[in-house]
Amino acid sequence: MFLKKEWVWNKPIASPDGAGRATVKVENGRIFYAQRWSVYHPLNFPNLPNRLAHAESTTGAVKFVESYGILGYHSLIAEQSDDELFTTGDPLGWFLHQAKTVRFALQIINALQENKTEEQLSDLINNEMMLVPMKVLVKDAQEETKGPAHCFAEGADIVFRPALDREGKHNLIAFQLVCHLININIQNAVRTIGIKTKRSVPTEQYIFTQQFAFRSLIEAIWYMIGDAAVNLNRRGVRICQECGLPFIVTDKRQKFCPGDPFSSGSLCGGRNRIRKYRKSDN
Ligand SMILES: [Zn+2]
Repeated sequence: MFLKKEWVWNKPIASPDGAGRATVKVENGRIFYAQRWSVYHPLNFPNLPNRLAHAESTTGAVKFVESYGILGYHSLIAEQSDDELFTTGDPLGWFLHQAKTVRFALQIINALQENKTEEQLSDLINNEMMLVPMKVLVKDAQEETKGPAHCFAEGADIVFRPALDREGKHNLIAFQLVCHLININIQNAVRTIGIKTKRSVPTEQYIFTQQFAFRSLIEAIWYMIGDAAVNLNRRGVRICQECGLPFIVTDKRQKFCPGDPFSSGSLCGGRNRIRKYRKSDN
């Protein structure tokens, strides 16, 4: 039978000594875990892009890996065995650049979906730029000169992109940036048609089902961002009213970063309620 398994990813499980948390290590510029792991279905966690957007520092990255595993840098550059992959881990710098790029793309999608003005879009795009030596942008540029550029994670690479400064065209630039970032990060995602059993009948029957396969968790995350960009199932992007980070809507009443069974301890909704309660108490 050709029943194909759904795509899964690995996450560390809490250490057996009862500490309750997985042991994620940062050593020699890499983030990894060298312990027991279990598998899960990332596509059942639509808030993964938001959780990654929270990784603004090493602590944030560790928190993410504790819950969802590494992003899978190695599988983007070479075929390696799972064992090797999970003990080698991700380069921390690349991990944080991916988180930053995800945050940026979600913010732009939100701004476009909420019809922000040219000026607001221009601020959003330009605020993320940094001054870099012109040499990294143009080969024969003069020494010492600097120019503004974005620094994006594109697949396994970290790439400098020079400013696309076209007055009055920030709406189009915003669309182009989002398309580029999504497409470059999902180019190896694969959709296949599979078969699954129909359980509700007494005799064995089968139906078609679509399945997705990715080389790494980061590709699955970008795939979800693509769905949010086209507003698939009305799942657009909103900004959390507590922490200011973007999240993908799964329920139209949502105002805060949603949680899931792996991250229920860090929810913005709960924090917001506590703050309001304290305010009213004073
Ligand atoms: Zn939040």
